[in-house]
Amino acid sequence: MGVEITINDCAARLSAANKILILTHSHPDGDTIGSSAGLCAALRSLGKTAYVIKNSEITPKLAEYVDKYFAPDGFVPDFVCSVDVAADSMLTPEERVYAGKIDLCIDHHGTNSLTAAEQHIEPHSPACCEIIFLLTKALGVTLTPEIALPLYLGTVTDTGCFLYSSVTARTHEVAAELIATGIDFYEINRRFVETKRRAQLRLESLVMDSAQFLRGGEVAIGKYTLKQLDEIGATDDDTQGIASMLRSIEGVRLSILMRDSKDGSWRVSMRSLPGLDCSKIVERIGGGGHVAAAGATLRMSYDEAYDAVLAAVRAEIGEL
Ligand code: AMP
Ligand code: MN
Ligand code: MN
Repeated sequence: MGVEITINDCAARLSAANKILILTHSHPDGDTIGSSAGLCAALRSLGKTAYVIKNSEITPKLAEYVDKYFAPDGFVPDFVCSVDVAADSMLTPEERVYAGKIDLCIDHHGTNSLTAAEQHIEPHSPACCEIIFLLTKALGVTLTPEIALPLYLGTVTDTGCFLYSSVTARTHEVAAELIATGIDFYEINRRFVETKRRAQLRLESLVMDSAQFLRGGEVAIGKYTLKQLDEIGATDDDTQGIASMLRSIEGVRLSILMRDSKDGSWRVSMRSLPGLDCSKIVERIGGGGHVAAAGATLRMSYDEAYDAVLAAVRAEIGEL
């Protein structure tokens, strides 16, 4: 946790820097990638040398929005800034050399615990991209399609295409300004929301079949494994949005999705409807996130992880 500073102070710090490196989070999503690409493009428009550190966990679908900004080997920054990274445990393996050496953390997770000298956290912003948009204003940057497209991408992916309760009038105002630059917003909506690969639908069906419904159907808990992904021909790109799918079932107020990782740990994703704070539940098992979307990583067997998750849910909402 760093010293909280204002968005204008963030702009002042970045204006004073010359060689800036931007960090994204592990298992990157549209928001961390969009924030990094949008910020990098904005800083370059001011004449800065700015790069995004290569995220080796990135999927092909997201890579095309950021790979032109990836830092060359040997780049030595004079300022390191993270976007949408909520905890030290969310740094990628290649980012760990910067653990404890991050100058500025820009994020929207209320549970943020990342070690950084200074931070700007807006928990009420539905996407980190919305904060980056405000930062471009504070920096005096002229919005271009190159800056606007990735910022729109992250806004769409973190808001379920303007669906979630986290969206505000400001979110729509920001989107209006991004769209006014002439970006192909429909292509983003279509690629990330409307269109689904057949393997993605097979994955939805598999998760649905795995689901257990507790407390009269209010709590849904589902699972998939890397082996199953392989069997149905699904990739990491097909897993985006799968956690929210279980919450979309009528009657469900809390959904839980568990999936394994290559290192044997279990990743837990929780989604909730208004009135239920899933970040409080996952904080009990070492995770964090937002009120309506949160996660944790558990280094234990599936059975142990399942028991730990349900114990945390019980402790927060009562018997299941
Ligand atoms: P996910 O279910 O992985 O999409 O994560 C939901 C939200 O919780 C995202 O905003 C993540 O950044 C956040 N999150 C996931 N895992 C963690 C963790 N271990 N610590 C803090 N935040 C997390
Ligand atoms: Mn994210
Ligand atoms: Mn985010």
